[in-house]
Amino acid sequence: MARHIGPVCRLCRREGEKLYLKGARCLSPKCALERRGIIPGQHGPNMRARRSKASDYSLQLREKQKMRRMYGLLEAQFRRYFREALKRRGVTGSELLILLERRLDNVVYRMGFAPSRAAARQLVNHAHLNVNDHPIDVPSYLVKPGDKISVREASRKLTYFKALMADKDAPPMPAWLSADRSTLTGIVQALPKREDIDVQLKEQLVVEYYSR
Ligand code: SF4
Repeated sequence: MARHIGPVCRLCRREGEKLYLKGARCLSPKCALERRGIIPGQHGPNMRARRSKASDYSLQLREKQKMRRMYGLLEAQFRRYFREALKRRGVTGSELLILLERRLDNVVYRMGFAPSRAAARQLVNHAHLNVNDHPIDVPSYLVKPGDKISVREASRKLTYFKALMADKDAPPMPAWLSADRSTLTGIVQALPKREDIDVQLKEQLVVEYYSR
């Protein structure tokens, strides 16, 4: 599956916000946004001033780009999620976020088995994960309540997973998931609700963008 392969810190600088795409580095003083907060490119410094009088379209576009980049998706994939969200009962923006949260790569990241969604995607692609004791190497797999996510027996011998099992400093877990780092196993307790998803995004603007 295609993915963005350019420098990811540029994406945060473009949005003027942290999108947390690089794991621990995002929380350290090395974060590129903290060191060089300007928008990348020749006209970057001038664009910050232009933002203050941004049009509705520009605001909607930027919010859509932020959400898409945060979850590491290309436009065609993201648009498919939007179409799927439209078919569901409930508020379209919330349904969109819920679908994105249910992706296996996101769940692996949320369970603390990977420092970022991109790293989680790589773990899934390299077939290190089981869902309900069956190997799944599709990052877009949508989890459902009761699913058991675990690191495969053979993969537990890798240095990365050994270090993870020894690390007691697990990140905070959203209410809809539970995980045990010592056994590298987690359970999807329920479907996420909008209030469980701690991303600073205005999903209504994304809906407006696609409804033009
Ligand atoms: Fe964004 Fe993380 Fe890079 Fe900072 S370190 S600019 S938050 S990806």
